[in-house]
Amino acid sequence: MNKHAPNSWEARADEHSFYGFTDLPTIDDRGAIVLTHGNGPYVYDVHGREYLDGNSGLWNMVAGFDHKGMAEAAKAQYDRFPGYHAFFGRMSDQTVMLSEKLIEVSPFERGKVFYTNSGSEANDTMVKMLWMLGWAEGTPQKRKIITRINGYHGVTAVAASMTGKPYNHVFGLPFDEFIHVGCPHYWRFGHDGETEAEFTARLAQELEDTIQKEGADTIAGFFAEPVMGAGGVIPPSEGYFQAIQKVLKKHNIPLISDEVITGFGRTGETWGCQTYDFVPDVIISSKNLTAGYFPMGAVILGPEMTDRMQAASEKFDEFPHGFTASGHPVGCAVALKAIDVIMNEGLIDNVRTLTPLFEEGMARIAEHKNIGEWRGKGLMGALEAVADKNTKEPFDGSLSVSERIANACTDQGLICRPLGQAIVLCPAFILTPSQMDEMFGKLEKALDGVFAEVG
Ligand SMILES: *Cc1c(COP(=O)(O)O)cnc(C)c1O
Repeated sequence: MNKHAPNSWEARADEHSFYGFTDLPTIDDRGAIVLTHGNGPYVYDVHGREYLDGNSGLWNMVAGFDHKGMAEAAKAQYDRFPGYHAFFGRMSDQTVMLSEKLIEVSPFERGKVFYTNSGSEANDTMVKMLWMLGWAEGTPQKRKIITRINGYHGVTAVAASMTGKPYNHVFGLPFDEFIHVGCPHYWRFGHDGETEAEFTARLAQELEDTIQKEGADTIAGFFAEPVMGAGGVIPPSEGYFQAIQKVLKKHNIPLISDEVITGFGRTGETWGCQTYDFVPDVIISSKNLTAGYFPMGAVILGPEMTDRMQAASEKFDEFPHGFTASGHPVGCAVALKAIDVIMNEGLIDNVRTLTPLFEEGMARIAEHKNIGEWRGKGLMGALEAVADKNTKEPFDGSLSVSERIANACTDQGLICRPLGQAIVLCPAFILTPSQMDEMFGKLEKALDGVFAEVG
């Protein structure tokens, strides 16, 4: 059912490109937005239309779409040494330098880094590391992975098993050894009369009970995003990580912080674990690691995990794992530049400067009678649409409210993403205050239009 003009970009996109995570009725109706270039936080489509990208690509284009230094770093490395692997004891000088840099900026006093091409692969790699530890340390039954409902850890078969979203049932996932505990979203899951502290304590108890039930000696690790991203932009409830980490430490279960979104500045600190004041055993990084200019992921092991993985690998004479493009020299050169740009050229500072304005804009919009709450941290936030603000009752799913809001935003020249019944905003770190005003102005117009129809 392709009703777009013959040979239009929209028809051509439909003809030969398979869309992922895309609402097909919307495509049918409106066609794909085919983009040609960008400028700062703006992108432009084949018809010359300008959009302010309120999602900085997919959370990751934090330095904007035309950062000259990033492009030059890539070009210089392509000219010098355009590609190499990191197998058989070889690796590029850029890879060596990036690992040094990542450990330097990590919360770890020492550690080691393993590279992948994506966040999903980094989570997969970490699970394989935990499973190998079970083999090496004489605890082969230690294979179960605990994550949270609404957690998002990617799409490869293992990462999808970790992801706590219902859509994975269409693939017959999760695999058996993947367990999901409760989501720390107090507004939605807190019981009547329960304080936020009591809610947190209930989740910690649930984790304890789950570990007891499964057997502590069968649990290999616990993965969590400091702020859940694709699950709806959900900051943890008060004291959550302290309560959870206490339970995990008691049972010697490693805590892996999936910082694919929160890493490198999104919450106003380099790492989300710093924002929430905990030190994990491992950090998973991707997305902002290269400011979106190269596909890359990294597993950053803290001191204890480094020693254990080193010993496990020595036992087998190698760590039998790696991707052809792991530690790609161009990716590493781009990441080194991205880290420098984010940390030393004022991008994190700008996140901190913009955060109060962002919170003000979100709070203003959240006064609307059809917005149940706004939530977020730093420069990531969501607005939850509701049919009834008091009962928190969602809109009828058949109304596709968030999809309609996102489409109305597109008409206003703003890209933002629907997520469940929420709308997500996570702009680039280079945004100016006036671009922030523009973003909220466009969003307000779009919301007024849609709520006039369905509210
Ligand atoms: C995006 C994301 C991933 C997956 O990364 P890909 O590069 O898309 O494979 C994993 N974890 C979190 C928290 C993410 O946001």
